[in-house]
Amino acid sequence: MNYTVDERGYYGQFGGAYIPEMLYPNVEELRNNYLRIIQQDDFKKEFDDLLKNYVGRPTPLYHAKRMSEKYGAKIYLKREDLCHTGAHKVNNTIGQILLAKRLGKQKIIAETGAGQHGVATATVCALMGMECIVYMGKVDMERQRPNVERMRILGAKVVPALSGSMTLKDATNEAMRHWINNPTDTHYIIGSVVGPHPYPDMVARFQSVISDEMKKQLQEEIGNPFPDYVFACVGGGSNAAGAFYHFLQDEHVTLVGVEAAGKGINSGESAATTVLGKVGVLHGSRMLLMQTEDGQVVEPHSISAGLDYPGIGPMHAHLCEVGRVKFVSATDDEAMNAGVELSRFEGIIPAIESAHAIAALSQFEFDKDDVVVINLSGRGDKDLETYIRWGKY
Ligand SMILES: *Cc1c(COP(=O)(O)O)cnc(C)c1O
Repeated sequence: MNYTVDERGYYGQFGGAYIPEMLYPNVEELRNNYLRIIQQDDFKKEFDDLLKNYVGRPTPLYHAKRMSEKYGAKIYLKREDLCHTGAHKVNNTIGQILLAKRLGKQKIIAETGAGQHGVATATVCALMGMECIVYMGKVDMERQRPNVERMRILGAKVVPALSGSMTLKDATNEAMRHWINNPTDTHYIIGSVVGPHPYPDMVARFQSVISDEMKKQLQEEIGNPFPDYVFACVGGGSNAAGAFYHFLQDEHVTLVGVEAAGKGINSGESAATTVLGKVGVLHGSRMLLMQTEDGQVVEPHSISAGLDYPGIGPMHAHLCEVGRVKFVSATDDEAMNAGVELSRFEGIIPAIESAHAIAALSQFEFDKDDVVVINLSGRGDKDLETYIRWGKY
């Protein structure tokens, strides 16, 4: 079974590059160059050096002993929450900005919903001294004020998207429009394993450092590079893609993707795309998408901003369809409880996105020798307001 992208940019029936003709040259330039560039020695050297000395990699693989006792398995946390900027997203933005430099680009654009990808992009633009424009829905700018200010402190220009619902999809449209008008000097940094080919594959490769490190760390810790389970939350799917990447061919490793059920799968306020979604095209690729009968995108809901996305990227849509990844979901309340539980048991306050992965543990029956790795995609600092509003701790 092949789980990676084919030459045409597809994972099974998902993927491709459904883009306006005006964007074709930009995407084609990337497609023709990304593999060659990221495989060059000097690229790898600079990428590895920044991951080590700027991001703080390798991130620890921590044996969570009290959680292990509670769930009756050997539970390890892959500590992406300890990355510079507080989450895994920076692994990808570093990779893409190094690629952009080698393509001779001087400017970076990005879109952001909750602001996390915008901050990760503004961070690497400051690092490289490149101009940065981040498109963000006006409504999201009001909801995510601290991240807007973070981006501004870092020197980025945050441009409000004023069309439609003034949220993520409108920001994406604005970014696309900007890219069409500035094809030669600008690179568009997409923040998850979504978008037209080659973005999903490119982002998965940059994030795959997560499972590469897991294997080495498990080998050292338990004398075997393979865990029995890997759990990761899935918004667009980038942290999960990184955590699963080097285990895809090892069928004895059970891979679990955890979606946000929001207020419940049948509540009308959910983001559980693998249950509620149908095949559709969004952001330039064929994926699983929550949509109405006439194909209009349904607004998703999750208490965690990072999982509040109406689709899942093509790689995960395929992995779900062929059954290689088991998809489950956790509700807002289950995730909040799991976030508090991890705080109390291990002294680690997780991002609410990551708390969804923790919440899924109780849905499984483990053997006590099972090795379970949870990708802790981010830290909870950004979510303090949400924890406070929820209040049950
Ligand atoms: C953005 C984000 C996610 C969701 O994005 P993926 O592409 O699915 O990984 C998950 N966790 C954290 C901490 C995030 O910031």
